[in-house]
Amino acid sequence: MIYNSLIAEAQALLPSAVELRRAVHRDPEIGNLLPRTREKVLAALKGLPLELTLHETTSGIGAVLRGAKPGPTIILRGDMDALDLHEDSGEPFASENPQTMHACGHDLHTSMLVHAAKLLSAHQADLAGQVLFMFQPGEEGHHGAREMISEGLLTSVDPPPTAALAIHVSTIYDSGLITTRPGPGMAAADQVQIIVHGSGGHASSPHRAKDPVSVAAAILTNIQVALTRQVQATEPVVVTFGMITAGSAHNIIPSSATMTGTIRTLSEDRRDHVHKMLKEVADGISAAHGLTATVEIDRGYPVTVNNPEWTKEFLAFAADMFGTGKVTEQPEPVMGAEDWSYVLQQVPGAMAFLGACPPELDSAEGPTNHSNLVRFHEDAMATGIALYAATAIRHLNHV
Ligand SMILES: [Zn+2]
Ligand SMILES: [Zn+2]
Repeated sequence: MIYNSLIAEAQALLPSAVELRRAVHRDPEIGNLLPRTREKVLAALKGLPLELTLHETTSGIGAVLRGAKPGPTIILRGDMDALDLHEDSGEPFASENPQTMHACGHDLHTSMLVHAAKLLSAHQADLAGQVLFMFQPGEEGHHGAREMISEGLLTSVDPPPTAALAIHVSTIYDSGLITTRPGPGMAAADQVQIIVHGSGGHASSPHRAKDPVSVAAAILTNIQVALTRQVQATEPVVVTFGMITAGSAHNIIPSSATMTGTIRTLSEDRRDHVHKMLKEVADGISAAHGLTATVEIDRGYPVTVNNPEWTKEFLAFAADMFGTGKVTEQPEPVMGAEDWSYVLQQVPGAMAFLGACPPELDSAEGPTNHSNLVRFHEDAMATGIALYAATAIRHLNHV
């Protein structure tokens, strides 16, 4: 079976994958413009039989591998951006750039996708269809995937992709473990700002003022009440206010109070409902006390929905290939967000997690993605490379 040989072929590419990962790790870049990272990727792809599209609004790269025979298209993604964080991992190849760190493992994703392109290129003669490799910047809150879609990524290949896979490394799983789930896998993440408008005065005479601080406090607690009363208890929804600002001294009633928070939901219907509820509670509580409120919601990434049928087949196939002990269905969604969701809104597929906890650490307790201390187990990249390649061959050749 070709899949067994893919694991061995991916393993043989591991030293090269480690080398590229470390080069990207040393020189991290943030946001949608990653010129040096793009150069490294282009240098690594040199000589492969790929049709490259260099995106202009971002540093994204679309790379198409055409098989020798006609057939469908699959899109595979690796994101390439880093985080605004000082690195304290102690790795010998730690970031050389101030306050910039590949703490989410996107350096591993970049290298895995490059090496999946190498592996699949070696099988070009056997492929019946196209593989579109999406090297994506700006995943960490910059809507990089949406930008690449706007620039024509998904219509750049004929026929357009009918399957989609992104792999994300995570240290909360043992190295080499593959996991995902059918249906919603990650949340929509929106930002909310509520400003309560009152009128200021002396703290000793609240009856002559309109105190926005007390009303803001009432709004905050009533939002939590409304969530538990309006949403079925088994459905996860999170509203957290991480910032409250008001006032300048202990003896002054300020004229306004501002609360900023995040909203996490697992369906578009619930997302709309919670947005409406936040406005109703803020307006209603404010009105009850003779104040007013303005509510502004900044829509972030949508819900990441793994196509149920596709994902079930993917899990079964991965278990056949790597062994049942290496593949598990994720029991519940995570309330983080991913802009791969924009691709999954248009193409059936999934976001899969790949365990990359260093073996000397406990995956239940070690530093996680986004930690200044996080370290990833590079050997897991061989699994990621083989999984990308096998998923593509399976979609193209129906084997
Ligand atoms: Zn991240
Ligand atoms: Zn990430």
